[in-house]
Amino acid sequence: MAQQITLIGGGLVGALLAQQLAGRGFKVDVFEKRPDPRVAGFVGGRSINLALAERGLQALRKAGLADDVLQRAVMMRGRMVHTRDGRSGLLRYGVDDSEVIWSVSRGALNMLLLDAAEAAGVRFHFGQSLTGADFDGGRIQLTDEHDQTRDFDTPVVIGADGAGSALRAAMNAHTPLGERVEPLGHAYKELEIPPAGGLSAALVGQSGGHDQFALEPHALHIWPRGGYMCIALPNTEGSFTVTLFLPAHGPHPSFDTLPDAAAARGFFGDEFPDLLPLIPDFAADYDSHPVGTLSTLYLQRWHLGGRALLVGDAAHAIVPFHGQGMNCGFEDTVVLAALLAEAPDDTAEVFAEFQRIRQPNSDAIAAMALENYVEMRDSVADPHFLAKRELGLLLAERAPQHFMARYRMVTFTHLPYAYAFERGRAQDLLLEQLLRGSTEAAAVDLTAAVATLKATLPPLPDLR
Ligand code: FAD
Repeated sequence: MAQQITLIGGGLVGALLAQQLAGRGFKVDVFEKRPDPRVAGFVGGRSINLALAERGLQALRKAGLADDVLQRAVMMRGRMVHTRDGRSGLLRYGVDDSEVIWSVSRGALNMLLLDAAEAAGVRFHFGQSLTGADFDGGRIQLTDEHDQTRDFDTPVVIGADGAGSALRAAMNAHTPLGERVEPLGHAYKELEIPPAGGLSAALVGQSGGHDQFALEPHALHIWPRGGYMCIALPNTEGSFTVTLFLPAHGPHPSFDTLPDAAAARGFFGDEFPDLLPLIPDFAADYDSHPVGTLSTLYLQRWHLGGRALLVGDAAHAIVPFHGQGMNCGFEDTVVLAALLAEAPDDTAEVFAEFQRIRQPNSDAIAAMALENYVEMRDSVADPHFLAKRELGLLLAERAPQHFMARYRMVTFTHLPYAYAFERGRAQDLLLEQLLRGSTEAAAVDLTAAVATLKATLPPLPDLR
């Protein structure tokens, strides 16, 4: 008889994991709090679009879904940095168009994954929230939108129910999981740049010949302003989703001091003068879109023996500044599905092994995502940072076996996050030594720098 597994949450990670488990012969039920988005329309809540990178793509390739997803995605070659005086320039992510990231719609991706999971035999139960669990009795409680509660027997339950996981709360009540949530202190709000057709012709001059878009579409746009920033990611139909990141509370500017559009318009006009005119519904967007909070979640225990396990954001929610939360969750699904397929009857061992493999990596990406916030909002406009970046590019060109920028390791390879974190730290130290505080990469003797690099750091692992 097929082994039964119950998932809580049919979001991005839950739907992909369900598809992979069903494809390996498991009998999978998924309980999802929201109604079926393919019937009711997608109920957003957070980030309308997301950056998909190599790790996520690799998981989608293994599930046979990468081509379908890429057909609905917009390629982004690098960061387009917009300065206060209205200038902009592209900082490429990789060496060429083989190293790009993709902007995908959360709703479209979720629906595609639900279709794929259903086609693989997964049974979805929409409009059903997990509201309790009896782990010793092998039973969970579910409540529907009419407040009707029912029990469901299941020997194994996996929580893919996101950062506010109800399964995690139930597990924690049974056996403390060693939970620590560290709020970032900064929050976000989403706004929209409509397709170029909806804007006056005078404003549409920056799209690099892509008439449908008001800005260059093949880039992740950043307006770095030191302690805060805006970013914008393109959508296939020509719009951009803009996200304002700002301190949640405290002195100006913060969401406390900019509570509504009337207060925020002047701030935008001063800080983002080229962006404001591209958001014609600024007042409506600002006043109706919620302020989202951001935190990092650390857990000592991800599972209760072989009975319950947490994956994706439920186990390791991170701040979004490396664009890796979903990518990391998708990597989880590949590792977990393979481990479960090898030992379907030994979930206790599989869950322990899953945590052993994944936790050092989720800790590393959590730290890198926090560091990346400073890089995006501040360092991309700093001459010393730009000199380090330039010297790194030169070293990577001269000694590709020995130097690869950390961002590239995280975004375009499958090297473990923990490796990228450690290697990145060592490389950064070396760049600091070579530059000695200078802002001139050209002033460094490259031949000597390459010799020092090779003498200091071992070659990178094989990337193929
Ligand atoms: P979720 O997407 O949160 O899904 C959880 C699901 O569980 C939902 O469908 C929910 O309805 C359901 N659920 C919740 N509670 C219950 C319950 N009690 N019972 C049943 N179902 C329940 N990641 C990237 O890789 N790239 C990016 O560019 C990126 N940008 C981001 C920008 C922002 C502003 C934010 C906030 C996050 C971003 N992320 C990004 C992170 C990404 O959104 C998450 O890592 C990803 O959504 C995690 O997927 P998940 O399935 O684990 O959780």
